[in-house]
Amino acid sequence: MTTEPPRRRILTLKSGIAPKTAEELFGKKRAPAKAAPPPPPPAPSFGWKCKPCGKGFDPPAEGPDDEVVRCPNCNARVGIAGDFRADPPPARLRARSVKKPG
Ligand SMILES: [Zn+2]
Repeated sequence: MTTEPPRRRILTLKSGIAPKTAEELFGKKRAPAKAAPPPPPPAPSFGWKCKPCGKGFDPPAEGPDDEVVRCPNCNARVGIAGDFRADPPPARLRARSVKKPG
């Protein structure tokens, strides 16, 4: 009894089959994709709005309480860092808290 190593079958592609076109594969022509509008940018999650200019900003989360906080947009001095951490914030703040949705 002779043991022969198993022969590997060589898979050959049958010739003569035309490659299918995308049209055949998907059944019908697809309409050219319209340029999808870009997704809306995520809403800025500012916690505060500068009163003078109305732009949103976030006061520094860390640092000394007496650190002067300026609006990054108009550079107005809106208060000191400690004021933003007070609850309720003092009226001298030149910024108002923005209620975050949710
Ligand atoms: Zn401002």
